[in-house]
Amino acid sequence: MSEANGYRLNSKEVAEATDQWLAKRGVTKGQIGQLVMLLQKDYFPELTLDECIANVERVISKREVQNAILTGIQLDMLAEEGKLLPPLQAMIQNDEGLYGCDEVLALSIVNVYGSIGFTNFGYVDKFKPGILKKLNDKNGKDCHTFLDDIVGAIAAAASSRIAHRKQAEREAALEAIQAEE
Ligand SMILES: [Mg+2]
Repeated sequence: MSEANGYRLNSKEVAEATDQWLAKRGVTKGQIGQLVMLLQKDYFPELTLDECIANVERVISKREVQNAILTGIQLDMLAEEGKLLPPLQAMIQNDEGLYGCDEVLALSIVNVYGSIGFTNFGYVDKFKPGILKKLNDKNGKDCHTFLDDIVGAIAAAASSRIAHRKQAEREAALEAIQAEE
């Protein structure tokens, strides 16, 4: 259907654009990794920041996550440029609390790794630690209405991924011990 008009999806291009735009909008994987660390360190004391960042990278490597990131950043930028239609322009520019589509878009990221991500997403959305505080500082110029939720959602999804994998590791280790007995 789409190939008839010359369009063809280039996954590598989408992945590269995602990395570039996150960086251009002032978000590093290290900062998202720190959010993951905050969410998971009480459950897994041996967890390292490198491990958190590696999990963030795996989340960002998913196509549906990249799509959400690019869409959200684009809407933030259009709002900064005053290019959205009223009244949407004012709602996104002012991060209207009753708007809610920013959270809904971000939930498509949380969904990727199952329901335990919801709790973590709610937590970072409420307390806005680290990079999220910076993104939420209203300086009258930058608009991060979508990006703050997206970053929180990536951290929440990476936390879910860690929780699922660590549980699997624990069970595998337990099975190995039991097999030796
Ligand atoms: Mg928001």
